[in-house]
Amino acid sequence: MDSTNTKHRYLWSILNLKCPHCREGKIFQNKSSFNAKDLLKMNDPCPICGQRMEIKKEFYYGTTYISYGVSIAFSVFTFFVWLIFIGFSVDDNRIFWWLGINGILVLLLQPYIMRLSRAIFLSFSIDYDANWKSIKPGSVDPALNME
Ligand SMILES: [Zn+2]
Repeated sequence: MDSTNTKHRYLWSILNLKCPHCREGKIFQNKSSFNAKDLLKMNDPCPICGQRMEIKKEFYYGTTYISYGVSIAFSVFTFFVWLIFIGFSVDDNRIFWWLGINGILVLLLQPYIMRLSRAIFLSFSIDYDANWKSIKPGSVDPALNME
């Protein structure tokens, strides 16, 4: 495995919403995370390696908890960024500014966070396979599913 190739790093593939099996195919059909209509429409199977995305019925129920966790982690992150660059004080209402701005950011990022949660959830059940090109899952022909 070529670990110097950033294209195949775990974090990169998660943040870019790539298939956990090949880390090249896109999980979602629509490129934009801010197109509400097809927000969670997935490429099932993966157009590159043929990995099934909907492994079983109601597979994505657990993502609610992950998106909650991601939102919390994001808020902790903005809290420290605010602490370092702006700071908090009991003498003014800077903390309320942070609360408001963070709340708006979390809301705006929600579509991406929902997708990200699915990508994280998928990566829990599907392992990366550096040899995915030679070992295709099942008999699914990815070419048939290109749209
Ligand atoms: Zn794939």
